[in-house]
Amino acid sequence: MTDGASTASMSAPRVRLAYKRILLKISGEALMGPQQFGLHPPTVDRIADEIVGLHRLDVEIAMVIGGGNIFRGLQGSAQGMERTTADYMGMLATVMNALAMQSALEARGIYTRVLSAIPMDQVCEPYIRRRAVRHLEKGRVVIFAAGTGNPYFTTDTAATLRASEMGCEALFKGTQVDGVYDSDPKRNPDARRYDRVSYDTVLQKNLKVMDASAIALARDNGLPIVVFSLDEPHGLAGIVEGRGRFTVVEPG
Ligand code: UDP
Repeated sequence: MTDGASTASMSAPRVRLAYKRILLKISGEALMGPQQFGLHPPTVDRIADEIVGLHRLDVEIAMVIGGGNIFRGLQGSAQGMERTTADYMGMLATVMNALAMQSALEARGIYTRVLSAIPMDQVCEPYIRRRAVRHLEKGRVVIFAAGTGNPYFTTDTAATLRASEMGCEALFKGTQVDGVYDSDPKRNPDARRYDRVSYDTVLQKNLKVMDASAIALARDNGLPIVVFSLDEPHGLAGIVEGRGRFTVVEPG
């Protein structure tokens, strides 16, 4: 698909939406499904269906997808590879994931653009902020690939950066649990879930949300982070309609 206006306008939202423009961050591992590595097409399809549900509500959607299902810079450098080279390989992995998600979304009739922080004109568009905003305004899903384009960063930081640049009202962080807990709920049955938690508490208690530089950047830009479970069917659309279980990371 190369052109077109929003397909979202066909169905009007039923309730007043909490968010009009969001950035969805998912890790590369979220696309692995039951596998140990790479892309699991049924899992990619399932997440694409969740995004379709959100798009139907007329929400403008930007995305950042990690690359950890294919390559992580730190792993490469631990095996003796030069760190910046390994990080560039990690960034290239995110481009592959972005193209897979674009393919799944376009198979569902959603116009999607991949914008890469590292120009690769034959593959996707280069990242140009104003162009990205225009795509969002036209109802296209915009997937930001290649992280920040710089080694020593993560896609969590890239997600916070792009969400801020796009003027998103919130960063949605899809995980395997339904929010932020004071300890790992998969290991500790007494783990307590926060409905709301401050950026500073997340940093002080080292709660597993995103890496510290991403949290600090979100705090400095007043960007709320909504942590939710990707495994909950219709969870994403539900939150935007004001339902469901999730944690909001925000000023204290
Ligand atoms: N990366 C990078 N700069 C960025 C974003 C990512 O160097 O701005 C590299 C880094 O090596 C990282 C890899 O890309 O390990 C994959 O990204 P990340 O680990 O954030 O993916 P996720 O854990 O979300 O799957």
